[in-house]
Amino acid sequence: MKAIYHEKKDCGAKYEIEHTGLGVPYLECSGCGHKVDDWVRWAEDYSKYWEEKERWENKRDHLVCLLGLFVSLYKANYGIDFSFSLNERGLFRSAEANQIRKLYHSFDGDAALAAAYIRWVFAKKVVERKRKITSLGFLNVPATLNEFKQQKKKAGQIGRSTMLPPKMSDWLKQNLPDIPLQDFGDLRNLLQHVKKDRIEKTKIIGVLIDKLQKAKMVSDDLEIAGWSE
Ligand SMILES: [Zn+2]
Repeated sequence: MKAIYHEKKDCGAKYEIEHTGLGVPYLECSGCGHKVDDWVRWAEDYSKYWEEKERWENKRDHLVCLLGLFVSLYKANYGIDFSFSLNERGLFRSAEANQIRKLYHSFDGDAALAAAYIRWVFAKKVVERKRKITSLGFLNVPATLNEFKQQKKKAGQIGRSTMLPPKMSDWLKQNLPDIPLQDFGDLRNLLQHVKKDRIEKTKIIGVLIDKLQKAKMVSDDLEIAGWSE
């Protein structure tokens, strides 16, 4: 392994790789005794953040949560601990942290979506196709990211025969009993009729449109979000 040195402006001596009683590595400067031991804090504390729901609600904890999720899935699938590369600037400036940061940004800071992606990578690539992942760089392979985004888009598409969600269906049966609506094709027809003034926009239809727009299911010009013929 390449030697790691304490920065020249500090003392310039070589860091020794030490291990805690539990076998967690850290660096200790042979000149001044300075320690870089993020990995110990990781093992004791940070690595479990992803298990706590509240952590996912705090932007500051997102990277640690995503890294923890990855490491946990790695261990579950391969039966061994994921080893971090050691460097003089610590875990959060490591290659691994940089890869997670890159991933997080490619999902525009949507930690839940990035987490769904990591789970998908393990389910699809590791379990199904027996891929051996040895570094976090695998997560940022453009082809893999694109495959996930395409599948996600397809799953989110709505067509004529897509059934209305049960809750919406119940509401419609109660409030618009004269207009039988079963699928998104029916809903789209209704919206088109309203748009073209072919039917009267009653108060209750107004309420329906308002609800749909608030839920971002329908745009301002009454088009259904994610519609695909
Ligand atoms: Zn030193």
